[in-house]
Amino acid sequence: MLDIRFIRENPDVVQTVAQQKGIAVSIAELLEVDAKRRALLQDVEGLRKQRNELSQRIPRLAKEGKKDEIEKTKEDVRGINASLTEQEAVLQDVETRFGELMLLVPNIISPDTPIGESDEENVEVRRVGELPQFDFEIQDHVTLGETYDLFDFPRGAKVAGTRQYYMKGIGLYLHRAVQQLAIDVLTERGFTVLDVPVMVREEMMTNTGFFPLGREQTYELGRDNAWLVGTSEVPLVSYYSGEVVDVTEPIRMAGVSNCFRREAGAAGRDTRGLYRVHQFAKVEQVVLCKNDPAVSEAMLQEITKNAEDLLQLLEVPYRVVAVCTGDIGQGVYKKYDIETWMPSRENFGETQSASNLLEFQARRSNIRYRDENGHLQYCHTLNNTAVATPRILIPLLENHQRADGSIYIPKALRKYLNGLEEIKPGA
Ligand code: AMP
Repeated sequence: MLDIRFIRENPDVVQTVAQQKGIAVSIAELLEVDAKRRALLQDVEGLRKQRNELSQRIPRLAKEGKKDEIEKTKEDVRGINASLTEQEAVLQDVETRFGELMLLVPNIISPDTPIGESDEENVEVRRVGELPQFDFEIQDHVTLGETYDLFDFPRGAKVAGTRQYYMKGIGLYLHRAVQQLAIDVLTERGFTVLDVPVMVREEMMTNTGFFPLGREQTYELGRDNAWLVGTSEVPLVSYYSGEVVDVTEPIRMAGVSNCFRREAGAAGRDTRGLYRVHQFAKVEQVVLCKNDPAVSEAMLQEITKNAEDLLQLLEVPYRVVAVCTGDIGQGVYKKYDIETWMPSRENFGETQSASNLLEFQARRSNIRYRDENGHLQYCHTLNNTAVATPRILIPLLENHQRADGSIYIPKALRKYLNGLEEIKPGA
């Protein structure tokens, strides 16, 4: 959420960013509703004041025995009460509309965010690692998985529907190993690791900016008025909702959770294998810090580096792209995607995504800190994947396959796999 004062002072900037982000909201309408709301608030307050003054007059008139005047005053109070009821109902409607429009207003974008309509216009910032050169016919992760019995897609579909799967044997061990590696690296770097609730209240989805626009992507547990999260960013940011926190040092949290996504609108896209599934696991970094753009920019670089370091430990080539306006999302000020080389796709595919949201989530979630002068300020919040699995198993298995059909296990993972150095028949 943006500060309404900022919107009043910069309506054109906000309208332009809404267009660039593809969000249908009229800032002119918002400001009209805002003006109406402020005028109504004034009217209502004026009427309340008048009513209180008149009511206070009655005991005095009674003492003075002025019966006629008492009756007249009482009648005036009744008249004011009737107008108040009417005006308060109008104000309530206007406040509701104001709230609805405010929830649609996007965050502004950083000056270095590329302008573009879709992910095709994201801009590469750097590439790390050599692309593998295969002198044999490569297999994709689905075939490798069949060979070594790592996953089961047909039975996943039979039991749970499309985009569902089982992880089996070494497949499951790998799935857990990459998460444990991320947990260990982040713990070493000062992150507090949390297992989080994955069923949350609707309010938390709204406060973190996933609702109203992301409603279609979210599984609803209607009977219990709860929603399944698509990322632990929701419970991690909400952990401090409504609180005054100490961000003298940035608060670094890492959430470990399953994530659930309806993937509405993705029909027919990425239907083979592990790339786009309804349920996956993620170790997610979330940071809360002072509302100083220099501090949150440094944190964006830090959490991006953490994700990159993990990919280097997994010994897979990747690139970092600056995400353009059309792909950045409503609440995000600046974003990098990290894309890892996926040989079967003959392309890089997104595996991590780092965002700085400035005060957008903290305003909606009411998370504040006291600055040096004792004034309450909203925090900046940031998030980035550390590792999302099983998607990361695609580059892991495919980049590390060898001519003899075996699959190399990166050194950093071996301690979580009983020292396993390669997957090969009979391993
Ligand atoms: P996001 O929270 O949308 O930035 O996504 C973070 C990461 O989660 C992505 O970069 C992917 O690695 C992974 N991810 C997102 N959606 C899916 C999905 N439907 N299936 C598998 N992995 C996903």
